[in-house]
Amino acid sequence: MTSKPSLRHGRPYLAIPGPSVMPDRVLQAMHRPAPNIYAGEVVDLTASLVPDLKYVAGTEHDVAIYIANGHGVWEAALSNVVAPGERVLVPATGRFGHGWSEMAAGIGAEAQILDFGKRSPWDLERIADALQADSERKIKAVLAVHVDTSTSIRNDVAGLREVLDETGHPALLMVDCIASLACDRVTMDAWGADVLVTGSQKGLMTPPGLGFVFFGPKAAAARQAMPRVSRYWDWVPRANPEFYYEYFGGTAPTHHLFALRAALDMIREEGIENTWARHATLARAIWAAAEAWGADGPMELNMPDPAFRSHAVTALRIGAPHGTALRDWVDQNLGLTLGIGLGMAPPGDPAWHGFFRIGHMGHVNGHMILGLLGGIDAALKALEIPHGDGALEAASTVIAGL
Ligand SMILES: *Cc1c(COP(=O)(O)O)cnc(C)c1O
Repeated sequence: MTSKPSLRHGRPYLAIPGPSVMPDRVLQAMHRPAPNIYAGEVVDLTASLVPDLKYVAGTEHDVAIYIANGHGVWEAALSNVVAPGERVLVPATGRFGHGWSEMAAGIGAEAQILDFGKRSPWDLERIADALQADSERKIKAVLAVHVDTSTSIRNDVAGLREVLDETGHPALLMVDCIASLACDRVTMDAWGADVLVTGSQKGLMTPPGLGFVFFGPKAAAARQAMPRVSRYWDWVPRANPEFYYEYFGGTAPTHHLFALRAALDMIREEGIENTWARHATLARAIWAAAEAWGADGPMELNMPDPAFRSHAVTALRIGAPHGTALRDWVDQNLGLTLGIGLGMAPPGDPAWHGFFRIGHMGHVNGHMILGLLGGIDAALKALEIPHGDGALEAASTVIAGL
């Protein structure tokens, strides 16, 4: 039996905002027998990850590693510094802000949400007002999502730090850099962030399953003042283990560690500044194409202002049913998988089909981005979705550095 001819037989390309493309070097690093977890290579390798993780996050402070996804480190971070009944302030610019606030509610905290909608970044004045109104200083922490992956909005973390300083509010600044680490410029210490959380499967190019919580001295002091912290989430033994098993509260995630070692080697070799610059250029190529398509048709970048657009993910609006039709077309015909729209319309609502996202985080280069833009261009033509001309020309001009 032969199926009908198609252009999908070849290397598939998963261009969703996590998990991201895994480099062959990362995959090959995992292709090996299980190592001893009591002595030898894996023990030394684990210690070697710590300085490189801090390099990527721009911090000299501590890091705890968890066998967890992003939701896991949301809970891990909160469990160390927020007790039941305490309040957190959550400025939300998309689904992930709401997700972190739900996690806070789940550990018994009271989440105060400032919702900025789906197409605007944080309004720092409104955040300042909320902090000033908290005259009893009940807000224990501000939960800040740097890049909200659903809307592709990138928020101004340094600006939020200034607001905390200017209002003299003692709340901890906790930042979710799950989508942005090793893609957009992330500088924990220069920002003055107290806690930073991230995961393995986005800019770090490693399979889902590792989560990281970085914490500074103010957060460490808040941890010490907690009435209790669950043993598994406690960051103290993980960050400063006396025995190897304490890094992970049990068996080490051995093959993930080999994978992460290879990924961090790649980032070290490239240099984090170059990694950020590569993501910035590739993002501009995508924006240039989207603007050209949108000049004569329904395609629209979700975030109008380029200053607040992520370099790791791009959310697009194209009107129902075009979003789903386009994703299906490139998947079935080209072996290219694009991301669904997340949190833009309720699933089940016909409007849900009017959105899609492009993941461009981690192991992506110029030819991959030009290829995916070419695929979208072909889908617009095949599906007869109205669109402006010159998108690929505009993107290749950016890639050419002109
Ligand atoms: C992906 C992501 C998460 C959730 O991570 P999971 O690994 O899916 O639990 C949280 N926040 C942001 C900003 C993300 O991009």
